[in-house]
Amino acid sequence: MTEAPPDFETFAQPGIQRLRAYDPGHDLVTLRSQFGAGQLIELGSNENPYGPSPRTREAILDALHAVHRYPDPLGGELKRALAKLHGVAPEQILLGNGSHELLMQFAQVFAGPGVDVVASQYGFAVYALAAQGAGAMLRIADAFPREHAMAHGHDLDAIAAAVTATTRLVYVANPNNPTGTWFGADAFATFLSRIPDDVLVVIDEAYAELADPAEVASALPLLARHPNLIVTRTFSKAYALAGLRIGYAIAHPRLIAVMERVRESFNVNSLGLAAAEVALDDTAHLQWIFDRNTEQRASLADALRGRGWFVYPSQTNFLLVEFGPRSAGIESALIARGVVLRPMGGYGLPECLRITVGDASENRRLLQALDEVL
Ligand SMILES: *Cc1c(COP(=O)(O)O)cnc(C)c1O
Repeated sequence: MTEAPPDFETFAQPGIQRLRAYDPGHDLVTLRSQFGAGQLIELGSNENPYGPSPRTREAILDALHAVHRYPDPLGGELKRALAKLHGVAPEQILLGNGSHELLMQFAQVFAGPGVDVVASQYGFAVYALAAQGAGAMLRIADAFPREHAMAHGHDLDAIAAAVTATTRLVYVANPNNPTGTWFGADAFATFLSRIPDDVLVVIDEAYAELADPAEVASALPLLARHPNLIVTRTFSKAYALAGLRIGYAIAHPRLIAVMERVRESFNVNSLGLAAAEVALDDTAHLQWIFDRNTEQRASLADALRGRGWFVYPSQTNFLLVEFGPRSAGIESALIARGVVLRPMGGYGLPECLRITVGDASENRRLLQALDEVL
């Protein structure tokens, strides 16, 4: 056993050799133990500070009685509830162990060597990982400039123009992470009409439930006219179930049937299924979260702008904030005070930090810590 191990990287598929693993940000487990239970202000991962409703918590506890059983491999109850909510057929729904899993699998199934995948600059990091992991070539369309009303947001014209004869897959997010920016229904309909039928368009609507419906319209009504459209959603953000890993995609039933071939049979766990069904039904809790988030997002943005920083427009539960060349120093000084934000160097935005909108007391403590640091 003294021999040097082989260079395993060279064993990997070419796409994987070039890949760098998803950067989850800070080691939260270590930070939590440093600062003590409940003392760390965690605003780095766009989690929901309010948690699920008491009814949903009860459903999770109930589901514990059957953890020795495999979950329903079809997720039938949840699919029926989702189908009813969105006015689609259950056969149009694909459940994932978080939507991250599905975003990866679209590339696994529809992209590969010789195929290219299009995404936007400052788009969600998972799209590039998915394309590269599948060995496909990634084409990045320039985002809007910082001076645009949708600063660094998706430029749908540029994305459509980046599509070539070898493109099979396009990823867009509405609203987008990490910018928080969005586009309107008309712009997206025009964009779709420019995309050839043999190019699949994944629209990631992870923050849809938190966006003002007057500003951000879901692409779901376009599914009937565009069989190449795939809409993804998640229970991780507005529904406050990030730890249970439930996401889903809605698309044409025949597209979903192809995706089912690579789905691991029990990819969605039983606690998550039980929780998601009740969470969907608890519309009062969702509305309460929407109201709290909208109110806290506005007051946090005001407070930051009042201190002179550029805050990107957002229809999500986070704010992208430009702190300038001092960003890295500010970020580490905040960590020392137990406030975790997300650095943006990996996204090519080293002068920005992404701040999850917390509850009122978390946001107050963030602003206090910022004032101390500066
Ligand atoms: C958080 C997020 C997801 C959701 O991830 P899950 O795997 O469902 O937890 C997907 N897309 C974007 C843009 C996100 O920010």
